[in-house]
Amino acid sequence: MRKRSWCWIRGTRSAWAFAGEPASMNQSDHDVVIVGAGIVGAACADEFARRGMRVAIVERDVIGNGATAAAMGHIVVLDDSEAQFALTRYSQSLWHALRPVLPDDVEYEQPGTIWLATDDEEMAEVQRKHDYYDLRGVPTDVLNAKTVQELEPNLSGSVVGGLLVPEDAVVIPPCAARFLVARAQTHGAKLQLGAAVVEMGQGRVRLSDGSELTGKFLVNAAGAFTPELTPGVEIRKRKGHLAITDRHPGFLRHQLVELGYLKSAHSVNEDSVAFNIQPRRSGQILVGSSRQYGAEHKEVDQDILTRMLERAQHYMPALAAMPSVRTWTGFRAATPDKLPLIGPLAEDRSLFLATGHEGLGITTSLGTAKILADQIMGWKPEIPVEPYLPTRVEKKVDAAGSLRAR
Ligand SMILES: Cc1cc2nc3c(=O)[nH]c(=O)nc-3n(C[C@H](O)[C@H](O)[C@H](O)COP(=O)(O)OP(=O)(O)OC[C@H]3O[C@@H](n4cnc5c(N)ncnc54)[C@H](O)[C@@H]3O)c2cc1C
Repeated sequence: MRKRSWCWIRGTRSAWAFAGEPASMNQSDHDVVIVGAGIVGAACADEFARRGMRVAIVERDVIGNGATAAAMGHIVVLDDSEAQFALTRYSQSLWHALRPVLPDDVEYEQPGTIWLATDDEEMAEVQRKHDYYDLRGVPTDVLNAKTVQELEPNLSGSVVGGLLVPEDAVVIPPCAARFLVARAQTHGAKLQLGAAVVEMGQGRVRLSDGSELTGKFLVNAAGAFTPELTPGVEIRKRKGHLAITDRHPGFLRHQLVELGYLKSAHSVNEDSVAFNIQPRRSGQILVGSSRQYGAEHKEVDQDILTRMLERAQHYMPALAAMPSVRTWTGFRAATPDKLPLIGPLAEDRSLFLATGHEGLGITTSLGTAKILADQIMGWKPEIPVEPYLPTRVEKKVDAAGSLRAR
């Protein structure tokens, strides 16, 4: 049993009461109102409801809309920083534990990832990544060119080796979000779809039809749209493209990612594409991916799409004969330091953020929900939360209304 460290006490009127909460908050209809039913809001609703809180979740569209509908669903451990590693690994272990109860349409598979190296510098990165993961208990295998070719015969000869991470998995993200919301509902959560929130704060959420919901706690889980409801939160939209082919069972066995993907993900100014490809249970092949700042329209950008598909064909020439049956875009919610914002805002004690997950929100949704619920309930989280607290980024709005990090 984990220890409660701070201020929650068992209430008599509702499941939980906050010690010292203002009288107005005692009158709240809900313990938590979550805005956004993407994968992060869905995971929060599930976690909070299963802990006995009275939950409402409000979504202006359908469940798993937004970035969740656009994502690849790669459940991946990454190591850009210790904090990123901690949250991705913790979350991946939660996905593994969830596997037995996930419905079939989530299509949970564990193909593993192979990080592909094309030169000595990238092979050195393979070794570094192997050592890092090994030290932290993540199984990996360093592969030479021959082994990579045996595992993935359709790769071109440009690959000189790679790193297999067998515990990486894949899911269909909107189906996972639907499952989580449905499970939350079986624990009493109330779902309001087609309801656009126009304002939230101080324990109140106002909808576009003028109605209001009240909650002791509010969670802004609106992804790339977070700043529309909580001005001052420094999140930029980072557009991504994906394409999917017709069915080619057996063509691809693992999620394949070029090591150059990491350079692409780190670039802060330029548009970038990188080879990132995933086998679906249907035999279709999901081809990614791109990253763009400043492109806020949803339309597919043909130049970017062509660059992305050419990059894929460079690694897997046979893809040239496998046309895409569908292409689409989505918006990642990017923070300046590439870590999500999970926790309370200093200026409004009712308002919590669960946002800013950029390209890792499917993976990290489950860990996000756990550590947010832990913060609210005063339980000791299983990983340190400090790197994700919104208060780490103090900002001010200048006279022109634009944001600057202090
Ligand atoms: C091309 C692409 C590929 C990706 N691949 C992966 C991957 O392989 N693995 C991975 O881990 N991550 C991946 N990601 C990232 C992942 O998709 C996101 O990090 C994740 O979906 C974020 O979930 P979310 O719930 O925070 O936001 P969203 O999914 O965007 O959900 C936010 C929700 O809030 C709702 N909303 C917004 N404003 C309001 C309002 N005013 N009122 C009511 N509702 C509102 C929206 O309708 C939406 O449903 C990818 C992203 C992209 C774009």
